[in-house]
Amino acid sequence: MLSIRSRCWLCRQPLSLMRHGLCSCCLRHLPARPPCCPRCGLPAGETRTPCGRCLQRPPPWQRLVFVGDYVTPLSGLVKRFKFHRAPELAPALARLMLLRWQQARREQYLNRPDLILAVPLHATRCWRRGYNQSDLLARPLARWLGCAYRPAALRRVRKTALQQRLSASARRRNLQRAFACTVPVAGRHIALVDDVVTTGSTVSEIAALLRRQGAASVQIWCVCRTL
Ligand SMILES: [Zn+2]
Ligand SMILES: [Zn+2]
Repeated sequence: MLSIRSRCWLCRQPLSLMRHGLCSCCLRHLPARPPCCPRCGLPAGETRTPCGRCLQRPPPWQRLVFVGDYVTPLSGLVKRFKFHRAPELAPALARLMLLRWQQARREQYLNRPDLILAVPLHATRCWRRGYNQSDLLARPLARWLGCAYRPAALRRVRKTALQQRLSASARRRNLQRAFACTVPVAGRHIALVDDVVTTGSTVSEIAALLRRQGAASVQIWCVCRTL
């Protein structure tokens, strides 16, 4: 009897390379992405230059690398990973991120980061789940790419009581102080790992913080970007 980890997470066929997590057939049949802007990751006519939105209001990061839209089967895998206590899915999802990063590096110039950071969870959420999903994705990526990884470098600073009384613009300003970075990032090329990027407000806040602290560049790496 094969253990669950030696079978494909999607079709349950036995795997020739069990560490891959998905069989080559399921990998080939992941939904194709539309052409996307290399900077914000949203659908665009051109995949080599930033879209009009990014030219007008550039996000605080340089590149966004993602595997696919938040649709089945990827969304199902992410849900199992996050909400059904399946941390053993991390290497399979991280490998999809690695393949996409390598493809982006081949097709459009992309520098190798020298420091990987993971989006932190609120301590209470991490405690309930037992793990931070972004941390579990960042670990194998750092190992495979030979990059430094600082698991506890980013932390959340809770300011929720104050938030409610603030105007919209003050709230935005206040959110910019919602995170703290405890390692020196000046002059470093950073990859910030998250599982799913939707509005991008969390990664925006952190990328802006890293740039204020002197980071040379920031790439966002995620499994899903909602399109
Ligand atoms: Zn399969
Ligand atoms: Zn864009």
